[in-house]
Amino acid sequence: TQKVTVIGGGLAGSEASYQLAKRGVEVHLYEMRPVKMTPAHETGNLAELVCTNSMRSDQLTNAVGLLKEEMRRLDSLVLRAADATKVPAGGALAVDRELFSKYITEELAKFDNLHIHHEEITKIPSEGITIIATGPLTSDDLAKQIKDFSGTDSLHFFDAAAPIVASDSIDMDIVYKKSRYDRGEAAYLNCPMDKEQFTKFWKELVKAETAELHGFEKDEVFEGCMPIEVMAARGEKTMLFGPLKPVGLEDPKTGKTPYAVVQLRQDNAASSMYNLVGFQTHLKYGEQKRVFSMIPGLENARFVRYGKMHRNTYMASPDVLNATYEAKKQAGLFFAGQMTGVEGYVESAGSGLVAGINASRLAQGKDLVTFPVETALGSMANYITTTSSKHFQPMNASFSLIPPLEKKIRNKRERKQMISERGLEKLAEFAEEMKIND
Ligand code: FAD
Repeated sequence: TQKVTVIGGGLAGSEASYQLAKRGVEVHLYEMRPVKMTPAHETGNLAELVCTNSMRSDQLTNAVGLLKEEMRRLDSLVLRAADATKVPAGGALAVDRELFSKYITEELAKFDNLHIHHEEITKIPSEGITIIATGPLTSDDLAKQIKDFSGTDSLHFFDAAAPIVASDSIDMDIVYKKSRYDRGEAAYLNCPMDKEQFTKFWKELVKAETAELHGFEKDEVFEGCMPIEVMAARGEKTMLFGPLKPVGLEDPKTGKTPYAVVQLRQDNAASSMYNLVGFQTHLKYGEQKRVFSMIPGLENARFVRYGKMHRNTYMASPDVLNATYEAKKQAGLFFAGQMTGVEGYVESAGSGLVAGINASRLAQGKDLVTFPVETALGSMANYITTTSSKHFQPMNASFSLIPPLEKKIRNKRERKQMISERGLEKLAEFAEEMKIND
């Protein structure tokens, strides 16, 4: 068995390392933190979450819910850690970010055949088996190497993180606990706004000052993580159909649905911190404090962390990768995570899982495998390797990437549930046939 080098101990690299180590392969994982930090990470732990603590829906009627279930069935460490450290979040899976990355760091430390080096790697190894999973904030020297390797100009968009406030600074007489439509355990704190409060807030938000960011164009934001001020600038009502949507969030004090609602999501198990849902932003810190303190209940809020924005770089994977995540022009070199054009924590970890399984198969002299396109994992690999590279954009897990059912089902929820069930059946057959779990 050959040894495998994994570069980057984020969501993808940690999952890949686990999949390799548990199959008995000798792994050398290189993570540059805490020796060298990225602009968004704050600790030296593996698999640190840079923004929200939510991993989104945990239901089979949602593609990211299917993706999670597939990963659980393939013994994903990231999913096990998420399940073990979850905090209440209605139908979503949200985690205590510190406990989550601590869990993963400790689990990986248990393997004798996994060696962790806190070192920056600046060159792509030209031989041996390697997985590069250095993420959207890959350090400069390596990013340049990857750009040269992929032969395309680097592609990028901008991504933003939302602020976090201390819970003892939230005015609990104003906010109320409730999940939308009372789904799941009441998990969110809701800040109700009447029309006048909303209009005043909107006016200040659209004229608030943003931080300098080199080369940032407003149309370069990823729609799923759009800064709140960019959304607000699209029109006075836009936020009311987005994060400030009030439907299903009646205020128990009045029994009425407010004009707008800002939701706060529990950010750690001790519930001493809450993040502002959908409030990823690129406003100057002082402006964040001034404008977000206009939200009812946050008048005296203490900001534990301000929102910030970063360049998010990815490769033109359709030109570079096979659906096994192996590079077309260098056998044994794999890429995984956000840099391959999958988008999101779970998606990044999912691609790391597939790359990890394939790298371990290569190390053990077995054939590489391509996951069935009916699965969320397979559909993502298919998307990033078959889309036109000209129009290539990072993509979350989505039912639109999975082939439709042969039978027409009118009811949307039922249809999605059935696509998920088919995906899980295909995964089971595939795992059995290819002896994936061996
Ligand atoms: P990462 O988790 O970033 O891991 C890469 C690792 O490689 C890091 O630990 C880094 O320190 C290390 N590294 C980098 N260069 C080197 C080197 N040369 N040598 C050694 N180690 C190196 N996704 C969501 O689902 N929800 C969000 O809210 C969200 N917010 C985001 C906010 C920002 C600001 C950014 C940039 C991204 C966000 N994403 C979000 C997108 C994405 O899901 C995450 O970035 C995710 O962490 C990607 O996983 P990864 O494993 O590819 O990269």
